[in-house]
Amino acid sequence: MKKVYLVEDNEKNMKLFRAIFQIMPDIKLFEETQGDLGLELIKTGDPDLIILDIQLPVINGIEICTELRAIDKFNNIPIIAVTSFAMKGDKERILKAGFNEYISKPIRVKEFRTLIDKLINSA
Ligand SMILES: [Mg+2]
Repeated sequence: MKKVYLVEDNEKNMKLFRAIFQIMPDIKLFEETQGDLGLELIKTGDPDLIILDIQLPVINGIEICTELRAIDKFNNIPIIAVTSFAMKGDKERILKAGFNEYISKPIRVKEFRTLIDKLINSA
């Protein structure tokens, strides 16, 4: 059983993620909608994969990723950024924070599933 931790504050996107993971075997999904609570949930957990929305209440996805990468336990856990930003320079800023991959909203289900399979099976 692989554990996926997801922090997303948009209900519509959360529903889509849930639907995607429900049809993927052997995945347990842990969810939070607020940045600070998400960080706590992840820190106290044992994730195989982390998915962070960038724009979140209290602290954003970039701050969460930066904090996690400073902790030994999370050095090699794959972290994916989910963002609606389309501004120049954002991708670079996101990857610099320590994210492994970057996906843009709206989420393309097939592409997303391929990415998840790749990251989880290489972990
Ligand atoms: Mg958001």
